[in-house]
Amino acid sequence: MNARPLVIVGGGQAGFTLATRLRDLGDRRRIVLVDGEGTAPYSRPPLSKEYLVATKAAGDLLFRPESYYAAQDIELRLGVTATGIDPGTRTVTLSGGDVLGYADLVLCTGAEPRTLPLAGCDEVVTVYRREDTDRLRTILAVANSIVCIGGGFIGLEVAAAAAKHNVHTSLRDIAGTAADLSRQGRGRRGLPAATATADPGAGARRLHRREERGAGAVAAGRGDMTRESSPRLR
Ligand SMILES: Cc1cc2nc3c(=O)[nH]c(=O)nc-3n(C[C@H](O)[C@H](O)[C@H](O)COP(=O)(O)OP(=O)(O)OC[C@H]3O[C@@H](n4cnc5c(N)ncnc54)[C@H](O)[C@@H]3O)c2cc1C
Repeated sequence: MNARPLVIVGGGQAGFTLATRLRDLGDRRRIVLVDGEGTAPYSRPPLSKEYLVATKAAGDLLFRPESYYAAQDIELRLGVTATGIDPGTRTVTLSGGDVLGYADLVLCTGAEPRTLPLAGCDEVVTVYRREDTDRLRTILAVANSIVCIGGGFIGLEVAAAAAKHNVHTSLRDIAGTAADLSRQGRGRRGLPAATATADPGAGARRLHRREERGAGAVAAGRGDMTRESSPRLR
């Protein structure tokens, strides 16, 4: 019978690094890496940069080719979500009903972007997964304008990419003034001032203005909320 494995839930940067570092250190225990996304672990930072402007392909995002995991005896369970943990029996329940016993369990479930109730906006993209950027790329190819909520790094990178596509961005941020954004170093992302209307402080409350309802998309890059309060793992 197989020994119970180390189960790592979450195959982002943290989960990937843990699994690969253990192997690098010569740890040969059985490792199972579970991730809700259907692709081998990949790097998110290019999602709002090179991948958004198509100078990197999907394969370039991967930390390692899929063959690496087989060679290192790291079992990938992709497209599967951990839905429950029973510390008593040391088991994790997976979506689909499988129950996975573990010797040790590490949660690397990261953080997910905060979302907004944006009733009436039919094209809202929250930039976190590769598929989000795929959708945003399609939108930027045809839209005249977008509303970007969040003037942090990701929001500004999205606005800069939009500018490259000649898509006008209306940037919304809770920060007091455009100067505040700039002072926080958030204005240094190659965002041409002429192509974006920065409206810090406006937040989402004006999203129902007619011209913004007509925008091609709302791209939300509103920072992270730890998954502790996520309904995904209870
Ligand atoms: C668009 C974008 C641009 C960024 N740019 C930069 C940058 O330039 N510089 C920088 O330092 N950082 C950047 N970051 C942040 C950086 O990517 C994160 O800090 C990093 O990804 C965190 O890694 P993580 O493994 O902790 O979490 P995550 O990357 O969030 O990975 C968590 C994984 O856990 C999985 N998961 C969650 N719950 C479950 C569950 N119940 N069952 C199974 N799987 C689950 C998720 O599917 C996800 O794959 C960027 C992030 C984004 C989204």
